[in-house]
Amino acid sequence: MVSESPFSRREALTALTATTLTTAFASTHSATSHAEAALQRSQLPGFYRFRVGEIEVTVLSDGVFTVPTRFSAENIPEDQLRGYLSALYYKPDNQVRHMNFALINNSKEVVLIDPGAGPDFRSTAGKLLSNLKASGYSPEQIDKVFITHAHPDHIWGLIDFFEGTPTFPNATYVLHEDEWAFWTADDAKTRLPKSLESFAVGAVRHLKPIAGRQTLFSKEAEIANGVFAVPTIGHTIGHSSVVVRSKGEQLLITGDAFYHPYITFEHPDWQPLLDMLPEKAVVTRKSLTQMAFADRQLVLAFHFAFPGLGRVAKRNGSYHWVPANWEWDT
Ligand SMILES: [Zn+2]
Repeated sequence: MVSESPFSRREALTALTATTLTTAFASTHSATSHAEAALQRSQLPGFYRFRVGEIEVTVLSDGVFTVPTRFSAENIPEDQLRGYLSALYYKPDNQVRHMNFALINNSKEVVLIDPGAGPDFRSTAGKLLSNLKASGYSPEQIDKVFITHAHPDHIWGLIDFFEGTPTFPNATYVLHEDEWAFWTADDAKTRLPKSLESFAVGAVRHLKPIAGRQTLFSKEAEIANGVFAVPTIGHTIGHSSVVVRSKGEQLLITGDAFYHPYITFEHPDWQPLLDMLPEKAVVTRKSLTQMAFADRQLVLAFHFAFPGLGRVAKRNGSYHWVPANWEWDT
């Protein structure tokens, strides 16, 4: 007599289980439904944590805002820009910009790279504080606030005007001396196009109250153990980036020197509308791109899709952006 093979027994068991489950599901489905549960209209809290050697970095989302498509490049025909972006599935009229700022903990100091947009910029922005708290930190723990540049989306979170107090009460502030001088000058407003006057008014409003607590630098400087300020002039007069170094690993935080995940690398000569020194910004963008590629640096770009982390690769002679994989293990 031929004995029954294990395979046929397994097949029989599988078939039986499937039949049982189908029957059970059918009776359950007809008896009760839970489909009336309310839609849950929120995502995860907006923070993303990782390590650079022994230094902990937390990307904090400050939300998003939109800009007209023309902001992405002003020195090429608009049709060309729209065609390029629509081929990449971007919407034609408005471009979404994420806001990813950084909290650096080197186990001695906590350094926030840009205080964010605060409550008065856009209704879709100003989320940094709640994400800071969700990530396990409090505003009182911030020792230093580094300011990449004084545009509204980066510094209008410095002061809580409702309370009349600094948002980060124990912090000192670090920024490039030319950035401080430009935006706190009495005539800053007159040196900007009329459409950007509110930038100057807002900068004065937020920078003047921190006067006396600022540390200014003019060239590369270590602002905390393993955390280096690097002038990357062009987007603004004193725009600066940050490099974090620990145990042979590096993170380059580019502020707005990198502004678009495709244009920045494929068309570095295209000039975004808000670059205050456009020619200089092109030179800075190209040299930062070469450095990030040559040193295989992890890069944090403030306005790329959250969390804004990736690396620069080179293919067929041209650079391109490779988003970093999401890592659950911190
Ligand atoms: Zn910006």
